[in-house]
Amino acid sequence: MIKLLAHMQDNPLLDIHTLPRFEDIRVEHIVPAVETVLQDNRSVIVRLETLNEGANWENFAVPLEAIEDRLNRVFAPISHLNGVMDEEELRIAYETCLSYLSDYHTDLGQNEGLYRGFKAIANSPEYATFDSARRKIVTDAIRDFHLSGVDLLPEKKKRFKEISERLSSLGNRFGQNLLDSTDAWSMTLTHEDEIAGVPQSTLDMARQEAEAVGDHGWRFTLKAPSYLPFMTYADNRELRRKMYTAYVTRASENGPGGEAFDNTETIDEILRLRHELAALAGFPNYAEYSLETKMATDVNEVETFLTNLAGRSKSFARRELAELQNFARNTQGANDLKAWDLAYYSEKLKEETFKLSQESLRPWFPLPKVINGMFDVVGRLFGVTVKPVDDIQLWHPDARFFEIRDVEGMVCGQFYVDLYARNRKRGGAWMGECVSRRMVDGEVQIPVAFLVCNFSPPVGDSPSLLTHDEVTTLFHEFGHGLHHMLTRVDYASVSGINGVEWDAVELPSQFLENWCWESQALDLISGHVETGESLPVDMLDKLRAGKNFQVAMQMLRQIEFSLFDIRLHGGYQLASNTTVQSVLDQVRDEVAVVIPPAFNRFQNGFSHIFGGGYAAGYYSYKWAEVLSADAFECFLENGIFDSDTGNAFLVNILEKGGSQDAMDLFVAFRGRRPDIESLLEQSGLAA
Ligand SMILES: [Zn+2]
Repeated sequence: MIKLLAHMQDNPLLDIHTLPRFEDIRVEHIVPAVETVLQDNRSVIVRLETLNEGANWENFAVPLEAIEDRLNRVFAPISHLNGVMDEEELRIAYETCLSYLSDYHTDLGQNEGLYRGFKAIANSPEYATFDSARRKIVTDAIRDFHLSGVDLLPEKKKRFKEISERLSSLGNRFGQNLLDSTDAWSMTLTHEDEIAGVPQSTLDMARQEAEAVGDHGWRFTLKAPSYLPFMTYADNRELRRKMYTAYVTRASENGPGGEAFDNTETIDEILRLRHELAALAGFPNYAEYSLETKMATDVNEVETFLTNLAGRSKSFARRELAELQNFARNTQGANDLKAWDLAYYSEKLKEETFKLSQESLRPWFPLPKVINGMFDVVGRLFGVTVKPVDDIQLWHPDARFFEIRDVEGMVCGQFYVDLYARNRKRGGAWMGECVSRRMVDGEVQIPVAFLVCNFSPPVGDSPSLLTHDEVTTLFHEFGHGLHHMLTRVDYASVSGINGVEWDAVELPSQFLENWCWESQALDLISGHVETGESLPVDMLDKLRAGKNFQVAMQMLRQIEFSLFDIRLHGGYQLASNTTVQSVLDQVRDEVAVVIPPAFNRFQNGFSHIFGGGYAAGYYSYKWAEVLSADAFECFLENGIFDSDTGNAFLVNILEKGGSQDAMDLFVAFRGRRPDIESLLEQSGLAA
């Protein structure tokens, strides 16, 4: 027993008095560390849930935050390592922890004792003395307990739980059907004329795919890296039609794999059960239930928002479509464009109009120049300085560590970066939380973030060179990072991005991207790898024109998905003679300029809302774009490096994190509610 305890104390994951000790962490530390913390937490919770009316901030909320924070600090490096150093043993340990955590959080969310504790605090005299952060912690907690059915009568509670469990398995089934149907189709081509136009990198991959199944030629599948380039570049129209047809009927009665993978009934059941669940919690429909935790107030506000944007974009989209049709007819001899022709001719038109490829931009964006330029940009905006720090334990030689100091020179945030692609590292880019800001015994716990990207590594002496897309990605993730690190809130559950409404989380990230498109900022972040010259103005002009290429058509597509989602969850089945398909048809009638063929079963593969977390939330993409464009408009008015405006964004948005309602924070910064005009203006869609 003593030996076991000594062993646990040696577990570097449990040492949370320092930054994670990456050089000491071994796979065998992972599961015991999480088990230990969960066990400790459960024993604290048993004590807290008996406090009932006796619960107050000090004896209840403080210890609850402490145990949650410890769990997060212990798990953060585990989850991070799983993303950047994937290997079999680590993944098994990670997944074991995930299942423990899932049980733990389910129990926590259903804990009536904790619910009573928060209610007691809300009803106590001390509540009136709380600042907005403490109040929001209490009200958010009570709201979330209510949304998970904790306060229902036993009979209804039982039903609520049944529905939740069933919905979780239906969501999995939806995803599995889609995956199986995607995998059930492939197309192996052997003639050169069949693959004309397809880029070499896609062909190489298709060749490998064929070899892997013992075939000759090129094997194409419905997975994005195969499907998208084929639809964009393949000259063979009939093959594009074939591939499109398979793709848009996935997981439907007529799709690859047929009825075995059909999601139609799954969708009906999901929608029916979501509606019932919302009704149990006292909401008229699932959309209102979902919006309870979002910045948008109600379905009506979302509908109005979307239809206004659609109304303003439609004539532009018609013009874009006409331009595409004329181009296809006049230069390519193609009449009567079909759904499987749009991406193909759009790409041709784009190439012809802008003659600017992402690849050709790389020499202007050496990574060290971009990084230092980005630090310079945020320095001018928010008065902070960013410097590298050595002698910190890291997980890989590519990783680095930085600290951010505020105007007074005090360290206010720290972050790791791991920017290059390599084997056994998950693809994509993300910001992860390592440590959240909070006050511990009168001392600030400094927030720490992970910034992970997958850029091409340096070769020999020459640095990593980024495309402009990659530069934008870096700014995006750093924007999330600043939200996490520049917070001044003293409670972990509402500091940084914690407690921020779902549809407002992308504001700081999309906001920071704007600087990648401004010539004054490009002077700081670009410098030709040979000459040091910043990106020439004519290239920037082309880049900006390319950004708005077919912007209205894209806007309408996103609005179509968003409106479909919000109406589907707004109780569509209450009206007679409506089906999922008829809701979609109706939306398309209203907003689309391109109507897909009747066999299209887009909805059967809409995993964002049926298999993921976007139900009645797909509009968030557009919502956050409007917020960030409108916030940026303020800088366009006052100067993109205007320090007063920068400070206002810092003080009202970044520092406040999730401690107040996102709408109140936005209004505090902008002096009014968000307006769609800025996005339309910046997209070239103003009247
Ligand atoms: Zn993001």
